[in-house]
Amino acid sequence: MNPLDLELLALLLMGVALWLLFLVAARRSRRGPGRLRSVDLPSAPGPVLRSERYRLTGRPDELRELPDGRWIPVEWKSRPLPRGGPPWSHRIQLWAYCLLLEENLGRAPPFGRLRYGDGTVVDLPWDASARRELLSLRAGIEAPYDGRARPSPARCRRCRYRGGCDVRAA
Ligand code: SF4
Repeated sequence: MNPLDLELLALLLMGVALWLLFLVAARRSRRGPGRLRSVDLPSAPGPVLRSERYRLTGRPDELRELPDGRWIPVEWKSRPLPRGGPPWSHRIQLWAYCLLLEENLGRAPPFGRLRYGDGTVVDLPWDASARRELLSLRAGIEAPYDGRARPSPARCRRCRYRGGCDVRAA
């Protein structure tokens, strides 16, 4: 293959990638609610939201603008919605995005949205109780370790933080 053919092939592949990107964005855009303002794709990452005050950063899968001008975060989960509803970790993650949006835009989102792989959509209100739960978790993380954890060898063997953990049991 001569250099010209290679350049043409590269251009063609780039064109196909851009087209696919456009298709994914257009498909997501139609899902609502509101207007799609940003989408986080491997080839085109969305904006990282930061809060100095809460020492938080995050990059939601989507940001959407509601008709009243408020923005909401949308988080995609590839698995189906668990039988018991959104797990605590999903809720905390979504609320952290709500807090980050509030900090960055100066307006609180009314809710955040979780989209599951089975098509289920769950909207979680960003209200006083959600804020309390998130901030109390954050306060717990920031507090000095009080030594009360009783790590088990079985759990620590599977733990992804074991490399940097100095209280692991195995
Ligand atoms: S390795 Fe550390 S962080 Fe992980 S479960 Fe054990 S004690 Fe907890």
